[in-house]
Parts: sequence; C-alpha cells; structure tokens
Amino acid sequence: MHGRLPHVAFIFDLDGCVYRGNSVIEGAPEAIKALRSKGRKVLFLTNNSTKTPKQFVEKLAGMGIATDEREIMTSSIATARYLRTRSRKGGSCYVIGEDGLREALRSEGFELLDEDGAGDADYMVCGLDTKVTYEKLAAACHAIQRGAKFIATNADPNLPVEGGYLPGAGSIVRLIVEATRARPLIIGKPSPRIVRMALERLGTEPSETAMVGDTLGMDIKAGRAAGLFTILVLTGATTEAEAKTSRIKPDMVLDSVAALPPLI
Ligand SMILES: [Mg+2]
Repeated sequence: MHGRLPHVAFIFDLDGCVYRGNSVIEGAPEAIKALRSKGRKVLFLTNNSTKTPKQFVEKLAGMGIATDEREIMTSSIATARYLRTRSRKGGSCYVIGEDGLREALRSEGFELLDEDGAGDADYMVCGLDTKVTYEKLAAACHAIQRGAKFIATNADPNLPVEGGYLPGAGSIVRLIVEATRARPLIIGKPSPRIVRMALERLGTEPSETAMVGDTLGMDIKAGRAAGLFTILVLTGATTEAEAKTSRIKPDMVLDSVAALPPLI
C-alpha cells in the first residue's frame, strides 16, 4: 500500500513542533519512533545557536526521543559547515555567540579571536549571546569595518519562552547592521542554506524529503525555498486561521506531529 507521504526523510523543527520549551508535544516521541520503524530518516533542525548537538541529544533523550548528534542540525553547525565549504584553509572569526557556535566553528578548524584581535578576523559571526556586552558589539563592528565578512546564524528577532519572549540573535544582528550598515549573510531559517546543509547530512534529495515545522515564515519558507515537501503543524507559532490566510502555503497542515504515522 502506498502512503500519502512517501518521503524518505523528515526534517523536524524543534521548538513548537517536537517540544514547547521544556514540555514534549504529546505523541511526538511515538511519531518519531513510528517513522523510524518504517525506515524513514529523521533529522532535527533548529535555529537555536546556543546549544551544542550533544545538549540537544540530551534534551530530546529526557523527553523520550532517542537520537544522536548526527541527526541534529543547528544554525551554528550549519554556519560552521557553510563557512568551511567556502574557505578550505579555515580562517579566523570574531564571534558573538555561546558554546554551541564557538564549538562548531572550532571543530571546523576556525581560529576564534578575542576582542583585541577582532580587527584581523576573516569573519564576524553573530549568533545569540545572552552575555553580549558593548565591548563585544564594538569589537564586532570593528571587525566588519576592517573587512571581515558579516555572517549571522539566524535572524529571529525574539525567542519564545514561557510567558513571553526574550531578545533573539536577530536583535543583536540588527544592532550591528544599524551601526555598520553592513548586510549579514544569514544561514538559519528562513534561508534555504541550513536546509541544504541538512540534506547534505541526510544524503537525500529535496524531492524525497519533507520539512515539518510550526512557523510559516521560517520552517515552511525555508523548506519551500529548498524544494522540499512542507508540513505545517499547529502546535506552535501558527494558528489555523493564520495558516489559511497566509501567502506562504505549506503542502500539508496537521494538528500535530502525532498525526504523521497514519500517513506513512
Ligand atoms: Mg519552531
């Protein structure tokens, strides 16, 4: 029997799709398990640049979802991979960001410069840094004025948390844009770049891969731009009414990832 979703691989957004903050979406662990049992490949893709893949593996394990670091694509990992493919000899970076980004760049062979050395950086890489200071922002602007390429892990202006939101990487990026008038190259969603990195990891073609996420302007936009089948879930940022009126059209809308297994 042919399922309605013949795709070989499924890329899942995390927040609002697999979990909300620290609570797993009901039925998500079972859905992931069911996909795997039917031989489908799974990859988790997040714009969150602060955590390492290992930290995401631990978070998901705590929610009953078994995975490994190979199945986690963060905006930090995608950024480091992307820069690596474009500068084979490595290079130096001045970074505003946390462990997830620093570790990813280091493991791709980049040298990380401190504030004093920022003027010599090949790249100014900006992600979310909850300990950002004026000194770091000044060093980032200095790096860009001295010719560093401006790269942003993602441009999410804010970060949903229980009861509201916090400033996201995009808010820090915009401060640097405002000061330097430079335009960053953005790697995370809605750019298709991060999706292409995910496909490279999966070893699948766009046409055999589905992208599942809760945000039209991020997950669905990125998935469409990369040529994937797109599935919007209504467990996060988007309501059914918004999905109906939006100009960004997913190929399928589901209440939740829990509705996936019967379609496979
Ligand atoms: Mg999301």
